[in-house]
Amino acid sequence: MEVLVQRNTEVRLALLPPLALYAHIPWCVRKCPYCDFNSHERSGALPEQAYVEKLVADLEHLLPSVWGRRIVSVFIGGGTPSLFSPDSIDALLSAVRARLTLEPGAEITLEANPGTVEAARFRGFRDAGVSRISVGVQSFDDAMLGRLGRIHSAAEARRAIDAALASFDNVNLDLMYGLPGQTPEMAAADIAQGIACGVPHLSAYQLTIEPNTAFWRERPVLPEHDECAETQVCIEEMLRAAGYEHYETSAFAKPGMRCRHNLNYWEFGDYLGIGAGAHGKISFPDRITRHERIKQPRDYLEKNTLAGEKTVAPSELPFEFMLNALRLVQGFPVELFQARTGLPPVTIESRLQQAEEQGLIERDWKHIGPSARGQRFLNELLELFLPDRP
Ligand code: SF4
Repeated sequence: MEVLVQRNTEVRLALLPPLALYAHIPWCVRKCPYCDFNSHERSGALPEQAYVEKLVADLEHLLPSVWGRRIVSVFIGGGTPSLFSPDSIDALLSAVRARLTLEPGAEITLEANPGTVEAARFRGFRDAGVSRISVGVQSFDDAMLGRLGRIHSAAEARRAIDAALASFDNVNLDLMYGLPGQTPEMAAADIAQGIACGVPHLSAYQLTIEPNTAFWRERPVLPEHDECAETQVCIEEMLRAAGYEHYETSAFAKPGMRCRHNLNYWEFGDYLGIGAGAHGKISFPDRITRHERIKQPRDYLEKNTLAGEKTVAPSELPFEFMLNALRLVQGFPVELFQARTGLPPVTIESRLQQAEEQGLIERDWKHIGPSARGQRFLNELLELFLPDRP
């Protein structure tokens, strides 16, 4: 177990940021070849009760660090949380409520995979207190779904979305583009179908090939970079025309339907991370800490759950903040940097000047945001905020 405690005296937070809770359910029916999440193919019955008990024990360990603070949102992600029964989700959320105060109307999201849910299950999740469903569809084209190793057909995806919308007002749909053999027209057809479903929130991610995935070992042929850039512009135009606000690199929402949990990440808020491989961030008046849970579900169930804990060095905070906040299409208020990192704005002034000179950000005395060029070359923009090498 790595325990690195690097005390510093430079961070000074006047107020602690909003606090969210993330719970990770690490099992899936089958591992998708592009997926680098901490997800594991299930074999046999899932140890739902034992896992929920461990999640609660995990939460209890974290409580002394957040006494008196309220929870603004809960996100049950994975993996495929919809493999868990509504009773298990109910037990988890009841235990959370017994130990923490949730803000009135706190957003509670659960990720669902078509092929694992039907109408009655969605009603059960709603009765357990879930208020938002995120459905991982990826494409409405059966050939693409086959290449992505998905367990569901396009027809099953549509049925799952309809069933979700019958129980929830707040539904997100995840789609991917830049898929093997996909033309911009095919990607646009997927987006058009997503819009036609009537969901208030849609996320569109470009497929990237990540290490430790089946696609990394046997790389499929993907569309060229320029073609993907063209597709991205087309997606943004289609969604804007359909009344969705583009508020983060990959996220689009109808007015008032932005994902509050993810916004808290992007605004560099705090979050408790429980479950196998989960990460968390907790601020104190004089420091910002990160914690990480053990990754393998079996180890998580059988051993101490903590894999690592550290205080973030002040030199790393500008990059960590920007890595999140510059994903916001409209940017952020100037004062948010100091409010969340506890560092004075002068810390990043020369880097902001560089970014401005390179046309990567736009700013005035109260607001900083990525320019259109900065959104397109986000990695180059973020590199400017990396800590200086010793
Ligand atoms: S269903 Fe989602 S979490 Fe599970 S393997 Fe596929 S992409 Fe990964």
